[in-house]
Amino acid sequence: MKITVALGGNALLTAGQRGTAAEQYENIAIAGRQLIQLIREHDLVITHGNGPQVGKIHLQNELASGETPAMPLDVCGAMSQGQIGYMLQQQLTNELINHRINRPVVTIITQVVVGKDDPSFTNPTKPVGSFYSQEEALKISKEKDEVWVEDSGRGWRKVVASPYPLEIYEGDIIKQLVDSSCLVIASGGGGIPVIRESDGTLRGVEAVIDKDLAGERLAEIVGADVLLMLTDVPRVFLYYGKPEQQELGRLTVKEMENYIEQGHFAAGSMGPKVEAAVRFARKPGRRAIITSLDQAVSAIEGKAGTQILS
Ligand code: ADP
Ligand code: MG
Repeated sequence: MKITVALGGNALLTAGQRGTAAEQYENIAIAGRQLIQLIREHDLVITHGNGPQVGKIHLQNELASGETPAMPLDVCGAMSQGQIGYMLQQQLTNELINHRINRPVVTIITQVVVGKDDPSFTNPTKPVGSFYSQEEALKISKEKDEVWVEDSGRGWRKVVASPYPLEIYEGDIIKQLVDSSCLVIASGGGGIPVIRESDGTLRGVEAVIDKDLAGERLAEIVGADVLLMLTDVPRVFLYYGKPEQQELGRLTVKEMENYIEQGHFAAGSMGPKVEAAVRFARKPGRRAIITSLDQAVSAIEGKAGTQILS
């Protein structure tokens, strides 16, 4: 099977961690041990979140701006693709060496084209950076004229525009690499958002593309059979966080669309995952899965997670 794996930000850096290189290597090693089991039997293209990392890069840039110029968010995104891509690439290479599998691993700096007139530019919803207390969040949002929101009961985060990914610009080369048995890491952090100018050239913009929606575009372009979204919950829930919460096992696109309409999924976290799932699984023969990293293998076997089929 051809599988597009979307690794959640939590698989790389968890909320309570400081984010040292050692911590990130440790988390990536856990992800690598899960992924190698899939790599042995399937063709994979891997994408990943970058929320905490790009938040820290952004912060480093801001704090040091008196000494060296701060980079805009799109450049910070590219830095995070390089940073996380490198760590994943090395970890997966080492797993392949240990399993005596000869397969190249490559990270692609990926640009993703978004619409100049995307409505999200006037209605930001995507959380970026670290979690803060309500008090800190309100202070910063006033100082910097930014929008901050409470995120799924876990704290306050800054939100920026999250335009819809129209096109993975490097899609063709990614497909060629996957088809020649390369293990590809691409579209990290949802890709670097770029808009197409009237003369066809590209320009980076200050926004963050949801990595699951971009992951769905990636799955489309490589012709994947499965879109596997790995996060920190084993399944999608109805009435999430309420006493009557109820987990979803196997369901159809139609059933999931009804639940989406009923408003069960938070914007900026589970919302884009279920949207990506229904977009992908709409075509017959395809499957979208949402589960936690530790259940990746049994989910591919159909024994765990929330499975969405046409
Ligand atoms: P990732 O980095 O994997 O994209 P997110 O934080 O964006 O992680 O999304 C996963 C989170 O979505 C879960 O940790 C959970 O708190 C939240 N969530 C919101 N609504 C739901 C729901 N209906 N079912 C399950 N999880 C939900
Ligand atoms: Mg997310």
